[in-house]
Amino acid sequence: MINIPKGTKDVLPSESYKWHEVERVVRDLKHRYNLHEIKTPMFEHTELFIRGVGKSTDIVNKEMYTFVDKGNRSITLKPEGTAGVARSFIENSLYNEPLPLKLYYITPCFRYERPQAGRLRQHTQFGSEWFGVDSPEADAEILMMASDFYRSFGINPTVLINNLGCAECRKKYVETLKEYFKPHIGDMCPDCGKRFETNPLRILDCKVDECKAINKNAPKITDYLCDDCNSRFNKLKKLLKNANVNYKFEPMLVRGLDYYTNLIFEFIDEDKKLGQNALGGGGRYNNLVEELGGKPMPVIGFGIGIERLLIYLENKGIEVNSDEHLNVYVANACEDLTPVIEITKMLRDNGVSAEMNLTDRSLKAQFKYADKIKAENVLVVGDDELKSGKFTIKNLKESKQTTLTKNELVKYFKG
Ligand SMILES: [Zn+2]
Ligand SMILES: [Zn+2]
Repeated sequence: MINIPKGTKDVLPSESYKWHEVERVVRDLKHRYNLHEIKTPMFEHTELFIRGVGKSTDIVNKEMYTFVDKGNRSITLKPEGTAGVARSFIENSLYNEPLPLKLYYITPCFRYERPQAGRLRQHTQFGSEWFGVDSPEADAEILMMASDFYRSFGINPTVLINNLGCAECRKKYVETLKEYFKPHIGDMCPDCGKRFETNPLRILDCKVDECKAINKNAPKITDYLCDDCNSRFNKLKKLLKNANVNYKFEPMLVRGLDYYTNLIFEFIDEDKKLGQNALGGGGRYNNLVEELGGKPMPVIGFGIGIERLLIYLENKGIEVNSDEHLNVYVANACEDLTPVIEITKMLRDNGVSAEMNLTDRSLKAQFKYADKIKAENVLVVGDDELKSGKFTIKNLKESKQTTLTKNELVKYFKG
């Protein structure tokens, strides 16, 4: 037998309804927030992620699925959704569209990680990227939307927010940070030793105990924000409060990618018992488009891992809504299946979810089968019914029986 590759997962028929619900919720957001879908390829030139995600990130250094194709090009399976969307935005001159342009996608992402709970080598992301708008109002709106996404599943995680500042105040902060870290380099983990040179901000994100201890007293970015960045951040907090978004300012929050500027955020469950508690996150990356060769363009976006969300809901004992149901099973009690097919077709043509008997099972066995596949009703088609034109419908949930003419059937099942 051939097994599934390590770190991947099948979505089995019994759980696919959860994915349909995720897609329904996303389409509902698309409708309410005026989003537009974008689909980019599963793989891109490796260079895109090196430039778009950042040389100093774990993703680029350790986790990419990279291979040389038959044309001798270095190709990488997308490890995240943003870089490809930014590439497409530039390549297809989407800056000529009316701005702001609010895009979304649901895409598989690939990372070569040590498989553990909620961390797959192929996972799915719902992401949204908003181009051409740079205001605290836009920052607030995208957080309202992400909150709405979670609320649709009956949860209301806290969104941690931090401000990494503009180029100006960030530069000052990074210098101060380096001064603070310098005497501690010898006590840091080897990764942070390297980060000190490449991206000292990321030391703040380190989960190694020694580094965590050093980070405790590190200077905080918020003490170094310029007046503009400060008033903007205060405005955002006010807007989030007004919109009833469950936020918390976290000055030690940094995120794994290099491209963030100003706002960064992360959705977490503060109930620490659940371990893997980061549910999604994002931020503003006003330099990314320029970094990839486009004109300067403000962008804000987020990514939410769907598998992780579903595991989280399961751990919390929260059921995902299911709109999946089978209205009627058409059973046959006649020799010839033709009328069964005809009636089933009529029901389906009118939008009724219908299944019919395709076997030579006895009527009793057909009822049993209908119960197993969770049909709500069984409609029996037999010689008597065909002669009288009256059909008996048995509601399996309430064990009720109704008799109707053929013309009344559609209305009955569509409620
Ligand atoms: Zn600033
Ligand atoms: Zn470290």
